[in-house]
Amino acid sequence: MRFEPVIGLEIHAQLLTESKIFCGCSTKFGASPNTHACPVCLGMPGVLPVLNRQVVEFAMKIALATHCTIAPYSQFARKNYFYPDLPKGYQISQYEFPLARNGWVDVAMETATRRIRIHRVHMEEDAGKLIHDEFQPLSYVDFNRTGVPLLEIVSEPDLETPEEAAAYLRTLRDILRYLEICDGNMEEGSMRCDANISLRPAGTRGLGVKTELKNMNSFRNVQRALDFEIRRQTALLERGESIVQETRLWDANRNVTVSMRGKEEAHDYRYFPDPDLVPIVIANDWIEAVRSGLPELPDVKRERFALDYGLPPYDAQVLTSSKALANYFETAVSAFPQPKMVSNWIMSELMRELNRDDREIEACPVAPDNLAELLQLIDEGTVSGKIAKTVFEQMYTSGKRAKVIVEEKGLVQVKDEGAIESIVDEILAGNPTEVEQFRAGKEKLLGFFVGQIMRKTKGKANPQLVNEILLKKLTS
Ligand SMILES: [Zn+2]
Repeated sequence: MRFEPVIGLEIHAQLLTESKIFCGCSTKFGASPNTHACPVCLGMPGVLPVLNRQVVEFAMKIALATHCTIAPYSQFARKNYFYPDLPKGYQISQYEFPLARNGWVDVAMETATRRIRIHRVHMEEDAGKLIHDEFQPLSYVDFNRTGVPLLEIVSEPDLETPEEAAAYLRTLRDILRYLEICDGNMEEGSMRCDANISLRPAGTRGLGVKTELKNMNSFRNVQRALDFEIRRQTALLERGESIVQETRLWDANRNVTVSMRGKEEAHDYRYFPDPDLVPIVIANDWIEAVRSGLPELPDVKRERFALDYGLPPYDAQVLTSSKALANYFETAVSAFPQPKMVSNWIMSELMRELNRDDREIEACPVAPDNLAELLQLIDEGTVSGKIAKTVFEQMYTSGKRAKVIVEEKGLVQVKDEGAIESIVDEILAGNPTEVEQFRAGKEKLLGFFVGQIMRKTKGKANPQLVNEILLKKLTS
């Protein structure tokens, strides 16, 4: 029997607010342990949480950007459980009445676009962090993260492959970044992902017993963990064994998932409405104000790039993956209106340099109008495409203008026919045997002559002219 996977993702996004969700403590990362904590986020008796308005607005942004319906009435609930990083003994989350439901995002796959439904979006607070001592049987607790606002975005089980799951995750990360509400950094934990996965006989509609996967801190790990889990569940089912509903941890070093605990049911948490927090009733005009303030989102921008600039889908996809990169492209194109050429240079030379020193486009030392200047020099024949690549590398390391480097290093292309002709004569005179062999039919020697001439001119001779003159001399 063949099986097919059914995958749903729960994404936690840490919001870029200045202060925590229910108190005024700073959310700034990297402070000394327990310096961003107060009686409210420490859960002291008698304190009262007050909701941060910005959190609601950020949650509305992602809800609207993913086509969800914002509930006219929503409410916080207490999720009760004990853990040393949770001083109150409960986490404030949303349960029966989440902020928004029933949305979708379109995920561009190589061959088609898949629409993945969003089940719900809700707000909650983060827990603290345990730090385990490497050398002694001791653990420490840091409450700086306690009460940092999180959004949970839950998909329907619409994902069919691990690749699709990773693509969906990237799509949501891009949207969160466009909205500037989360930095989307999975390695640093500001975006986290849990996956639910089950198998069912191919072509059927029912749902099998699912496992929940945790601890996947990169897109690649999400994909690898799902791959592993599909193989593990398939092997069990093929042997006639049953799947245990449980939570499993991804172990990236060993490439396996390991059982962590039996999966708890919702009723284990004894959810109930938090009596300290009033229900949230959102007025329509607030919703409309947030909606009209949304930026152009990646999918819309992608379509516009393909249409307005005539770019292939792949280029449009790469260039719109971040708002800053898209802006860079558009600024360069406005100075040098040949979109495909600009796109090629950004996707090859520019991104190679950025990847090499692990920089974001925001920190790129070559300004977009400077890239445009270089492309202009190629276009008007001042430098060859090949030399332009060297010039670009120097622009990147020195931050200098393209024209300045070309002038300083004397890289202007030689287009003077007389000058090229005398070099061609010189090379032909110096290699009489090869000239004879060429004339006797060994035509691939042409490359040899071109190479010699280019070496002589340090690559500055106009290749078209070199070819023309060389052929004329060799065949006359
Ligand atoms: Zn606090």
